[in-house]
Amino acid sequence: MQVEARHWPTIREEPDSSLSLAVGEGVTGTVVRALAEGVTPPRPFSVRAFRSLPTPPPGERAITVDQTNHSVIAGESVVVKWFPRPSRAPHPAPDLLAHLSGFSRTATPYAAVYWEDALVALVTAYLPEARDGWEWCVDEAEAGRTAFAAELGGLAAELHLAMATSSPVFPDPVRLSPAVQAPEAGHDPARDAAGGAGAWAERAEEALRDALSLTDGEDGAWLASRAGELRRELAPLATAGPTPLIRIHGDLHVGQILQWRDGYAVVDFDGNPTVSSAAPGGGAFQPAARDLAQLTTSVDHVGQVAILRRNADPGRIAEWVAAARAALVSAYVTGLADAGRADLLDRSLIRPFEIEQECRELIYAARHLPRWRYAPMGVLRTWFGTDPAFTK
Ligand code: ADP
Ligand code: MG
Repeated sequence: MQVEARHWPTIREEPDSSLSLAVGEGVTGTVVRALAEGVTPPRPFSVRAFRSLPTPPPGERAITVDQTNHSVIAGESVVVKWFPRPSRAPHPAPDLLAHLSGFSRTATPYAAVYWEDALVALVTAYLPEARDGWEWCVDEAEAGRTAFAAELGGLAAELHLAMATSSPVFPDPVRLSPAVQAPEAGHDPARDAAGGAGAWAERAEEALRDALSLTDGEDGAWLASRAGELRRELAPLATAGPTPLIRIHGDLHVGQILQWRDGYAVVDFDGNPTVSSAAPGGGAFQPAARDLAQLTTSVDHVGQVAILRRNADPGRIAEWVAAARAALVSAYVTGLADAGRADLLDRSLIRPFEIEQECRELIYAARHLPRWRYAPMGVLRTWFGTDPAFTK
């Protein structure tokens, strides 16, 4: 049985050969019902199914929180994330969702929908009463509560343990990074993709350079005055020894952790939009410390949001951030150790990856969201001080 093409989204090929997608009223519900009934999609659409999908009740409504893509809830039971600008480049999420089939702390994945070779939608279960971390975690900051942090650390550990467990999709899920590469050896694309000390140091240095050149005004001058200190914090990346690599989430901040009726869940396996997988150090296999560093810095960002938007006291927020970070990392380390996988975390990489992350936040702010700059700047000023005596 075939469904009529007019019930599916419209894809347009632009003159520069990029794709754009339009989803008309009612299309999400129709597509989800077609998937549930096992209907063959109209060519050139195709479906990769992860689990069989229960037929949802009628009705659909769009999710309205800040988001990169366009998510629609069908029948209050299924979420379809449509990609408005589908890409033909390989997308990490479908393989990760298939690999994580035994991991329960995410929205159950049902299917990936393609148009030719471009991913156009991901279909997952709807988590009732879900609120994302830019809401619930800011409430915790304002109230000074830190019990959530141990839960988040435990969740991140569970995610990484699942990533490190072999499956038919990734039979070899843990690799060792190559040893330090002498700078004079030049670039070898395979080695760059594999990562390792040289490639990560180069990637972080590039992020620092971009952050410095894209951040203007007083913030830019302050940042330039701290460039030496930032660089010193990145130094361990250049000499890191061989360390285990796994597939990571890649964009693990509190906004991707939903608090819902039954607890916490991690969503959005699309990877980091600011990092090219072809760039040095940008390969799919990464140290677990990269996800952990992004998660801990996002707790700092929540603190900045609470100060700006809820008028929270900066001194109390500093204490809250310190306590939450400590509890998060400690629960994460315990989670790995309890499973006999303490080796997955190389602690010497956390701090340098945190510094790189703050540079990436500044780059993101400069390129996409100028009003976000206060958050990474606030964090960096807390870390590196505002005492004018330090300013060159
Ligand atoms: P994007 O790529 O657009 O950031 P996400 O997958 O992060 O998309 O989803 C955006 C938002 O939609 C989330 O922050 C959350 O508020 C909501 N959301 C996503 N998935 C679900 C789900 N399975 N159940 C309920 N809400 C969800
Ligand atoms: Mg997201």
